[in-house]
Amino acid sequence: MRKTYVMGNWKMNGSRAANATLLSGLKAGVPALRAGVEIAVCPPFVYLEATAAALAGSPIGVGAQDVSEYDKGAYTGEVSVAMLKDVGATYAIIGHSERRSLYGETDAWVTQKTVAALAGGMLPVVCIGELESEREGGLTEKVLARQLDAVLAAIPNPVPGGIVIAYEPVWAIGTGKTATPEMAQETHAFIRNHLKKGGEAFAAQTAVLYGGSVKASNAEGLFSMPDIDGGLVGGASLTADEFVGIYNGAVAAFGRR
Ligand code: PEP
Repeated sequence: MRKTYVMGNWKMNGSRAANATLLSGLKAGVPALRAGVEIAVCPPFVYLEATAAALAGSPIGVGAQDVSEYDKGAYTGEVSVAMLKDVGATYAIIGHSERRSLYGETDAWVTQKTVAALAGGMLPVVCIGELESEREGGLTEKVLARQLDAVLAAIPNPVPGGIVIAYEPVWAIGTGKTATPEMAQETHAFIRNHLKKGGEAFAAQTAVLYGGSVKASNAEGLFSMPDIDGGLVGGASLTADEFVGIYNGAVAAFGRR
């Protein structure tokens, strides 16, 4: 059976005080994993080590929002896989649409980072998604296929430790415009089918998360779809009650699988 996940991407938000409040709310709300659903938070780099320490002994995991494709050396501002692991991160979000659109990350670059994460024993959460203009132009599947193919061509098969795909329609990120469960499922089914390029077993085992204005009130509906294996959550992951509500929605939906 595929693994299921609820992951919070804090983006450039937080402070030591705010994080302490949020993390204690999450620890109280999720004292143990239920229905096998994994949960993790992805704070800014500077808060990773303190977050991992605050969550020690809890079932909540820690991930980074980005990672360098390089191991070490003269790469000012970059953070390597080994450094992230050293401070307690086990996941890395790669190729988030904000990295692609604001910082010029290309499919090739996203692929290099994914390869580096896998080589270093870290679980990459590779983000893909179409712009609103691309959806309106009927290009959604072409864009997703291009983004996926770049990564699929470069990663080992079988993938040691696996890989997670996060489908995040760019028009739904931070806008409050969530795809309906049916609309999201249709695209997830396309992604699942496309993953068969890596073999039936790879497609069946790879978790495909949905991201884009997921909140407590719509989580269970989205996660009840057969090809949606959890969520990558932005804004709603900054409030303990909302994020715990999303986790509870996932437990309800995946408990029925
Ligand atoms: C995200 O940025 O990954 C995201 C899904 O954001 P939001 O939940 O705020 O739409």
